[in-house]
Amino acid sequence: MALRIELTNNPKAKPDESALGFGKYFTDHMFIMDYTEGIGWHDERIVPFGPLAMSPAAMVLHYGQAIFEGLKAYRRPDGKIQLFRPMENLNRFNRSADRLCIPRIDTEMVFNCLTKLLEIEADWVPHSAGTSLYIRPFAVAMDPVLGVHVANTYHFMIILSPVGNYYAEGLKPVRILVEDEYVRAVRGGMGFAKAAGNYAVSLIADHTAKAHGCAQVLWLDGVERKYIEEVGSMNIFFKINGQLITPALQGSILGGITRKSVLELAGKMGFDAVERQISIDEVLQAHADGTLEEVFGTGTAAVISPVGHLVIGDKEYRIADGEMGPCASAIYDKLTGIQFGKLEDEMDWTVVL
Ligand SMILES: *Cc1c(COP(=O)(O)O)cnc(C)c1O
Repeated sequence: MALRIELTNNPKAKPDESALGFGKYFTDHMFIMDYTEGIGWHDERIVPFGPLAMSPAAMVLHYGQAIFEGLKAYRRPDGKIQLFRPMENLNRFNRSADRLCIPRIDTEMVFNCLTKLLEIEADWVPHSAGTSLYIRPFAVAMDPVLGVHVANTYHFMIILSPVGNYYAEGLKPVRILVEDEYVRAVRGGMGFAKAAGNYAVSLIADHTAKAHGCAQVLWLDGVERKYIEEVGSMNIFFKINGQLITPALQGSILGGITRKSVLELAGKMGFDAVERQISIDEVLQAHADGTLEEVFGTGTAAVISPVGHLVIGDKEYRIADGEMGPCASAIYDKLTGIQFGKLEDEMDWTVVL
């Protein structure tokens, strides 16, 4: 592989670390490579961040053959930069690619290009507490033709965005609306893939959630509208009668790396954690019995997002007095401690650059 590097002549001023928000600022460079049927992935290059030239007929604009990943680079207390389970993201990328007929990437090669890009952009990894550099790998179909078929040409790219502390104002539990009209995914569809289309289809629920004063929706399964799947674009955990329960992955749920890490850490921390189907009725029954102890979402952006209220129609159920529970809190501290290099990484999850 010959990685070509073209550095910018116009480096940007770094944004104010106290007002980064999420995904608003981008670094000076990006990684890009092309795919051509018969040749494979080629022309790996790091170039100045900037617009793409594409035909208005580019297939991704019409048929949505687009997948992505999301992970972060963290600033350690010793000033070095580290990644959290990056190969998990690259391997998941290939599982998403398979589902959408996008050619697989060579994960080792892409990892090497990513580390080179991060080396060039090292100063963009912010230093303030809770901030990080969000990494967005993605692939899109580029053929400039309107026929519906698997594309023959693609771009794979990595862009980087310094992001703020998700909880600058503290970990405030959110209100969640149980969505009973729309569904996000069904088994056999692409719910397990990190595909752009899964987001497009879920946006409508934002409206209903906001109309009920809620931050996100709780997705139920698409067949019976009975079993719990995810919360917004996060995985979900319930603590009932001492046990942590998260819905089992059966094709319609995205297998989060945070979810997987929480399951693995929970065991180490002495919590009993299981993956199984869980119905909304079981959750409401536990609430009625007083055994519903905690509910929280998990994902790379927020890590842990406690749920303070569940809203179903005009009924509202308060969880853990609307506060963040001790289990969510302990897991949050442990996981973010490992991610930011503040706690010893016994699991060997981090990669120091
Ligand atoms: C990305 C994503 C998650 C969380 O995955 P992580 O690997 O933990 O960031 C959960 N659900 C959906 C739908 C997602 O797209």
